[in-house]
Amino acid sequence: MPYLRGEERLPEGCLFCAKPQLEDAKAHIVYRGRLCYVILNRFPYTNGHLMIVPYRHAATLEDFGAETLTELMTLTQLSLRVLREAYDPQGFNVGMNIGETAGAGIAGHIHLHIVPRWNGDTNYMTTLGQTRIIPEWMDQTYERLQPLFERMSATSK
Ligand SMILES: [Zn+2]
Repeated sequence: MPYLRGEERLPEGCLFCAKPQLEDAKAHIVYRGRLCYVILNRFPYTNGHLMIVPYRHAATLEDFGAETLTELMTLTQLSLRVLREAYDPQGFNVGMNIGETAGAGIAGHIHLHIVPRWNGDTNYMTTLGQTRIIPEWMDQTYERLQPLFERMSATSK
């Protein structure tokens, strides 16, 4: 599945526990919910590749209660709205890799991928596949999406 690729591997520590300790703009956290946050993928499969991550460190969906699961889905909905507004994609991949065998780059801390898709985006993805995205571009994406999350979260609740 497409969202299997492009995840970051950390030698130690947990990226998804560490990121919320930073400032939003530095961490590229575009939205903070009560139980989960939304962050840009540093190795995006396409432009606008987001991840929704529970704050609590746990490896699989069975470890979470209904409140977190609900927020995962409401933030998924919000992310789709924001990405449609920002990039007008023709489709999305939404999904989770649970366990290293399934392709999770950070297997200890569950996260849900949202990947906007366009017709003919395979060439673009091949080009970007193994390339570390430049910081300026991450900042641009952040600047574009963060205000939309703020605005659209206020209107969609
Ligand atoms: Zn963690």
